[in-house]
Amino acid sequence: MDRFTVEVISQTPNPQQTIYAAMHQDYAEGFVWQTRDGWPSEAECGDIIIQNLLKGGRGHYGPLEHPQMVLNCGWFPHSTMQQVRTHRVGVSFDVQSSRYTGRRLLEVVEGKRTVEEVFYLRPLGFYTDRQGKKYEYTVEQRQQDLDWCRQACDRYKTRIEQGFSEEHARGLIPFDVRQHWVMSANVRSLMHLIDLRWKADAQLEAQKLCEAIWPHFQAWVPEVAAWYEQNRLKKARLAP
Ligand SMILES: Cc1cc2nc3c(=O)[nH]c(=O)nc-3n(C[C@H](O)[C@H](O)[C@H](O)COP(=O)(O)OP(=O)(O)OC[C@H]3O[C@@H](n4cnc5c(N)ncnc54)[C@H](O)[C@@H]3O)c2cc1C
Repeated sequence: MDRFTVEVISQTPNPQQTIYAAMHQDYAEGFVWQTRDGWPSEAECGDIIIQNLLKGGRGHYGPLEHPQMVLNCGWFPHSTMQQVRTHRVGVSFDVQSSRYTGRRLLEVVEGKRTVEEVFYLRPLGFYTDRQGKKYEYTVEQRQQDLDWCRQACDRYKTRIEQGFSEEHARGLIPFDVRQHWVMSANVRSLMHLIDLRWKADAQLEAQKLCEAIWPHFQAWVPEVAAWYEQNRLKKARLAP
């Protein structure tokens, strides 16, 4: 999977119990925290959430908005960052902006980094455009595009040496420069993002992002993830 990487920075430690507690407070007479010693286990809470909130399209998603996961997404193309940043509700971002740094572009010129470490180009192979027209991305074309990225690094270096600021010089570089970002989301907003970005007509790299997020989501909220996999994953069922 290229060099795309998603790592967990932090996460709510008992997410399914947290969802359970939120749900339980909806109808409990008492203060739910005082009953915490009697809460069902994490796995049992997962089953209760499915039964009471998710099963049969009940649409009671509010309690799933409390547990939070903070992810570090790395080496994705700028276009993927743009796509995921359209998700505004329950998701927050800090993205490397190239406003303060551009060292890695200079390092391409200095031979300390490869072009592919800094820019993303799609793999060789056959593709289809939005109108269904097929075309091949050949070895020769890809090499030409790598050369183009390399030339852009040369121009970037020239402008920096002439005194340009990073935020000015970044405008010269090819669109799919790789970017790292930190993204936080809750159980509900993560499922919504995956609904939209792992379906078949989503862009290839956004699908790869979801593929890399998925094992973390599964490990974090296993019962909810199993339900999601069975009922929603790649089914283009939108907007929970
Ligand atoms: C395959 C694909 C192609 C796309 N192409 C383009 C494109 O070419 N150009 C482009 O600009 N965007 C494009 N988008 C982005 C798309 O239009 C949405 O902005 C994006 O998917 C964010 O999803 P969301 O609206 O569900 O937002 P989220 O922030 O994920 O919101 C979650 C949910 O909250 C509700 N919500 C959020 N904001 C509002 C609001 N302001 N008013 C009312 N309800 C709201 C909705 O129910 C929404 O589904 C594309 C998305 C996909 C999946």
